[in-house]
Amino acid sequence: MSKIIVIGANHAGTACINTILSNYKEHEVVVYDKNNNISFLGCGMALWIGNQIKSSDGLFYSDKEKLESLGAKVNMESNVEKIDFDKKEVLVTLKDGSKIIDNYDKLVLATGSRPVKLNIKGNDLNNIYYAKLFQDAQKVKAITENKDIKKVAVLGAGYIGVELAEAFQRLGMDVVLINRNKEILASYFDTEYNEKMKVLMEKNGIKMALGETVEEFIGDENGNVKFVKTNKDKHEVDMVLSSIGFIPNSELGRDKLEVFKNCAYLVNKKQETSIKDVYAIGDCATVYDLSIDKSNYIALATNAVRSGIVAAHNVCNTQIESIGVAGSSAICIYGLKMLSVGLTEKSSKLHDIEVLTTSFKDKQKPEFMENNNPDVEIKITYRKDNRQIVGAQLVSEYDMSGTIHLFSLAIYKKLTIDELALLDIFFMPHFNKPYNYITMSAITAK
Ligand SMILES: Cc1cc2nc3c(=O)[nH]c(=O)nc-3n(C[C@H](O)[C@H](O)[C@H](O)COP(=O)(O)OP(=O)(O)OC[C@H]3O[C@@H](n4cnc5c(N)ncnc54)[C@H](O)[C@@H]3O)c2cc1C
Repeated sequence: MSKIIVIGANHAGTACINTILSNYKEHEVVVYDKNNNISFLGCGMALWIGNQIKSSDGLFYSDKEKLESLGAKVNMESNVEKIDFDKKEVLVTLKDGSKIIDNYDKLVLATGSRPVKLNIKGNDLNNIYYAKLFQDAQKVKAITENKDIKKVAVLGAGYIGVELAEAFQRLGMDVVLINRNKEILASYFDTEYNEKMKVLMEKNGIKMALGETVEEFIGDENGNVKFVKTNKDKHEVDMVLSSIGFIPNSELGRDKLEVFKNCAYLVNKKQETSIKDVYAIGDCATVYDLSIDKSNYIALATNAVRSGIVAAHNVCNTQIESIGVAGSSAICIYGLKMLSVGLTEKSSKLHDIEVLTTSFKDKQKPEFMENNNPDVEIKITYRKDNRQIVGAQLVSEYDMSGTIHLFSLAIYKKLTIDELALLDIFFMPHFNKPYNYITMSAITAK
């Protein structure tokens, strides 16, 4: 029997704890988390704020009681301040303020990430918010219910910024989306798809301030934010929602453990760090990125859960390896669904990978199917040297999630674009065309 300490009990930690206690009941599992809730689904934040779902109740799938019913000893509102990796000890400040030292045989770091905060003048003004915790969502929800709050600037046009811009617009607010890059969603899609989403958002009344860098927040006499000053403009606001990225919470171990360029713990495919018996999972750790065949940082709940499962087995001496990830993700704004996995034409340049692309646009089903038959667009990225597929992007009002899963598998299995052209894809008018867009994009590849 080992004593396993897990620091952090959100998506990664919860998956790890559940897996250990469901499969290896003989171990003692002690959990510390500084928050007061477990398993908040941040993906529901924009839906709740924009009143697209009735309540926040369904945004949690676990809690202290559930983990304890499996046998874990769970200490909430308990901050781990320090780790002595040589003595295998953690120093914790518990909820009641007392300090304890606890010892472990194996340690799992699941401390996640936090939002990047701009270090500029005025960043301490009132009504500047961030998107991460349930508590953040509660604060934003409360302020948007104040009728005097009408103008909002959303900083950062990644998935979260774009989702929240839509949510605020749905509430009837004046929204400006400010982004340093000239494109929205630039990390996930190529220009032609990003442009489509931008046009849709503008059509719905969201103002775009792209290619602008925020330089200062200017307040009023009450200390409330009143303007966002950028290198090009001065935007009048009543509130700001900043979503410009995340940094890993790795302060506990970054001096001792090997880290990635952004200070995420560098782990191998077993989630092992550079110190024996210490594992790292979720947003505080790297992943093995299949599309570049290297470690990378891709902060997603899906990756967090899988890494928690892998770590749990290895901690308990069942040797398993992660099969890697490719950053499969999606967004749905005003009904337009955009899905992406692996490299885009643009991101492949950042990794010095020479690629070719093939694109295709069609109806999902034969033209005689008059209902629920929107356009579908696909762009596939494949290596120039060996023609292996390294990425795919999809856009439609149709639910194309099954297709993006197929491309996730294609990247994992190193499928070539020429093999894809001959893949057995069924035809049936309720679903697709005989010469469907996946086959056609592969057949027409250069
Ligand atoms: C608004 C929003 C929308 C998102 N949408 C999606 C989506 O649609 N799909 C998707 O896959 N991902 C999404 N994500 C990303 C996803 O939420 C994260 O990848 C996920 O939360 C990572 O889980 P984690 O457990 O690794 O880390 P976190 O969720 O960051 O949890 C870390 C935990 O560690 C605890 N902790 C940290 N330091 C200490 C310490 N010193 N002592 C004790 N406890 C500590 C924290 O309290 C926290 O509970 C979204 C994120 C946000 C913010």
